[in-house]
Amino acid sequence: MATTIRSIRDLDLKGRRVLIRVDFNVPIDADGVVTDDTRIQAALPTIRHAIEAGARVILASHRGRPKGAYDPKLSLAPAGERLAELLNVEVLLPEEPAGESARKLVLDVRDGQVVLLENLRFDPGETKDDMDLARKLAAMCDVYVNDAFGAAHRAHASVSALPKLVAERGMGLLLERELDILGSLLKAPRAPFVAVVGGAKVSDKIGVIDALITRCDQILIGGAMAYTLLAARDVSLGRSLVEMNKIDIARRALLKAEQRKVELILPVDHVVVDEIDESAERRVATNEDFPPNGIAVDIGPATREIFTAKVREAATVFWNGPMGIFEIDAFAKGSMDVAQAVAHTNGTTVVGGGDSVAALRKSGFVPFVDHVSTGGGASLELIEGKDLPGVEALRVREREQVEVEE
Ligand code: ADP
Ligand code: MG
Repeated sequence: MATTIRSIRDLDLKGRRVLIRVDFNVPIDADGVVTDDTRIQAALPTIRHAIEAGARVILASHRGRPKGAYDPKLSLAPAGERLAELLNVEVLLPEEPAGESARKLVLDVRDGQVVLLENLRFDPGETKDDMDLARKLAAMCDVYVNDAFGAAHRAHASVSALPKLVAERGMGLLLERELDILGSLLKAPRAPFVAVVGGAKVSDKIGVIDALITRCDQILIGGAMAYTLLAARDVSLGRSLVEMNKIDIARRALLKAEQRKVELILPVDHVVVDEIDESAERRVATNEDFPPNGIAVDIGPATREIFTAKVREAATVFWNGPMGIFEIDAFAKGSMDVAQAVAHTNGTTVVGGGDSVAALRKSGFVPFVDHVSTGGGASLELIEGKDLPGVEALRVREREQVEVEE
């Protein structure tokens, strides 16, 4: 049976209780102030769409990792306050995600009003994909919309069990855009398609590299994961981070790239220190003259040249994973240069991954990138070609194309 995923634009919202699963997992400081509202901002188009369509809006999100019980430090109240400011409407905040007081508040809500349920993970059922919690939430709404791309890869109750209980369901505008853009990278990317992959571990990213090898023209690899791949080519980099038990996997990836005639480009030089400390003395060493006691913490100048030149020539760029320990300014140059090159590329540019987006933000080039994904793990699983539970749960049977006339 053919299935489809409807967009919120195709759902009838007027006068109905619409539960929107959002990703309000935002950082909040000790004074209860949201310090980065990017995720709230990203959900605004969908929320505004629902309000304008006359829906009774019920928002649900998780935040942090409470242990299945109320934890004042992980309340969503500050996020609700920020949302109220941004929307300029009152946001009603029950003190629980799905209990009696939440239900009462939701039943009383009027058209155009907004309720933000308390942190879903205060209920132990959320992370267990629990049917009881899903039923309670389903009883509170007529329509279900998922706009939490950042949580779409998790089989949790509000993302997986719940939508299957609500016949009228679909994706929000943010989720739709994420699936569209990341999906197009997999389907028909314009060539040359260059991927820049970095980060700490080969083991985290081998699935992504495997998938990219079948689609990219060139893959540039930096970060510590490059050291394991270099080790597979018998280059030894002193005390740099190498996953000794992943060298076989690395060797297989190198071979696969060769067979597919995909250029897999590894660093030729490195920023080297004796200890990981921002005040440590920095040197540059190549793969050939690497000091036995040195630790590589960033790609070197020759590698920066090669990588940025390739990125600038690309028609499509996907960047995931920092080139070095970018959290320390002294080791951030490789990541900052890649960010700048991505920003200056004429082609379509997409950045995904929690730390990659943090590095991009640090560079100040966010506005010059076509798509900055709001999902770290979710964007990588999508690129790997995996089905996301939160997306699959939205599928409905395709409607009859032609209505029979009486
Ligand atoms: P993303 O979240 O974008 O997918 P990852 O989580 O895979 O990225 O990797 C980010 C981490 O990799 C950062 O914390 C960074 O410090 C670390 N990293 C990058 N290069 C190195 C290196 N040379 N040595 C140690 N850690 C590194
Ligand atoms: Mg990360």
